[in-house]
Formats: sequence, C-alpha cells, structure tokens
Amino acid sequence: MTSDGCEEMQLLVQADVDGELQPAEAARVGAHLMHCAECAQVQTRLLALSTRLRQDAPRYAAPAALRARFVPKRPSCRVPALAFGAGFAIAACLALVMVLPRGGALPDAVVFAHIRALQPGHLMDVVSTDQHTVKPWFDGKLPFAPPVKDFQAEGFPLVGGRVDYLAGRTAAALVYRSRQHVIDLFAWPGVDSRLPSSGARAGYNFQRWSQDGMSFWAVSDLNAGELGDFVRDFRKP
Ligand SMILES: [Zn+2]
Repeated sequence: MTSDGCEEMQLLVQADVDGELQPAEAARVGAHLMHCAECAQVQTRLLALSTRLRQDAPRYAAPAALRARFVPKRPSCRVPALAFGAGFAIAACLALVMVLPRGGALPDAVVFAHIRALQPGHLMDVVSTDQHTVKPWFDGKLPFAPPVKDFQAEGFPLVGGRVDYLAGRTAAALVYRSRQHVIDLFAWPGVDSRLPSSGARAGYNFQRWSQDGMSFWAVSDLNAGELGDFVRDFRKP
C-alpha cells in the first residue's frame, strides 16, 4: 500500500527531476528517498527516462544569441516585437517555437504519469471491469465526465480508473489491459491539435486525439500497431 504522503512525494520527485524544486523542498524529497524504497524507485525510473529523452529527443538548433535573448521571456513574443520590429520578431517567435516545441512537454508529462502509475499501488483508485461502476466513480471527483467504455471482446478489457494530475491539469485515467500490457487512457476537457498525434518516449508509445471536445492520450508499452487498434476501437462512435 502507498500512503498519501508518497503520492504527493512522487509528484515532488518528478518536479525535482525536472529541476523545479526550491532547495528546501528538494532536501525534503532527498530525506524521504533515504528511507522509502518505492519513491526511490520512481526517482530512478524518472532519471533514466529523463536521461534517455535528453539523448534521444530530436533537437532544433537556434542561434545561441537568439536563445539567450528570448528563452527567459518565452511567454511573451510581444516584447521583442516592440523592441526589434515586426519582421525580426516574427522570425524570433518562429525560432522560439522550434527551440521549445509545445508538443515536447506534454508527451513527456503523459509518459511520466504512466510510469508513475505503474508503481505498485498507484495504477487504480477504482478497480472494476464494469464500466457502470467506473463511470459513476468519477462523479464528484472531476469537473467533467470522461467517456468510459469496455473492450473486453476486442481484447482490451477495462480494469479500472483513477484521477491523475499531470502538467498542471487534472485528468481522468482509464486503465485497460492487453494481455500482460497496461494501457493508460488519459482524458481531460479541451483540444490542442498542435500537439503530436503519436510518438514514443523511453520505450512507451503514445497516441493522442480529440473527440467530443476532449483530449485523449493512450500510453502503453504495447507496440504502436496494437495501441492503434485500441485507439480505433475507442474512437468508434
Ligand atoms: Zn515514499
């Protein structure tokens, strides 16, 4: 069993791996990891993933001077527009988009959340193969109602669900199985079609799509073809 303290701690571990913690918080994480093997294991996996991402991820080079000037001010491209004139500003904003693709962070966060969930005791808050049990379980826990379907006959039985938190948003996570593989299906309201529709991170495949005003991300170590079969089944009206 995992205590609530460890759930919070594992979010902090992820933030720590991302270098986002203040020193005092990082120290608290370090102290916990000294005596908690489970959280230490999460850290080990996240560090391994982070290292692989740094090695494997495609990179788009921008001139160093441009980067130094704009990366700290990423949220606003209006500032350079005023300072340097529209033509240069457009070029600078395009370069920024290439240096820091918005599509990069969210797939990482989704795969992180999947890996975190694979730790013992984290995968499911409601354990049921019955969609009529899982769907009402989300009532009151989320400000939206995720569609819950079962694909037992297609080889992807629903096994449960949980509420997850990733990249600053609350998500419904539906858990399916395919043989010995786990599929996490994350769902939240809103659509962002600029993000990649499929890809892989550290051995996990993901597919993203939008449906009925919601964003869906399926993540699994299942091969891309079979994950595609699952997504096709789910998208069928
Ligand atoms: Zn712990």
